[in-house]
Amino acid sequence: MKGKIHSFESLGAVDGPGIRFVIFMQGCALQCQYCQNRDTWDLHGGTEYSADEVLERILKYKNYIMPHRRRYH
Ligand code: SF4
Repeated sequence: MKGKIHSFESLGAVDGPGIRFVIFMQGCALQCQYCQNRDTWDLHGGTEYSADEVLERILKYKNYIMPHRRRYH
C-alpha cells in the first residue's frame, strides 16, 4: 500500500505532550477557511511512500520517541 506524503517532522514538539514523529499527508479537498497547511491541499503534489518506507524512517528515531519510563507520575 502506498500513500502520498507532503512531509515528515522527525521531532515534533508542538502537537501535544512529548516528542513525536509527525507525518503530513498530501491532498485535501476540504479547504477549511483557517487551514494552517494549505501547501498540503494539492491532490497532485507530495511523494508516494509505502508503509514500509515510512516505518523505516520512523524507526531511525525510535530512541527519541519510544517511552522509557514515565517521569510525570
Ligand atoms: S485543516 Fe486544512 S488539511 Fe485539515 S481538513 Fe481542513 S483544509 Fe484539510
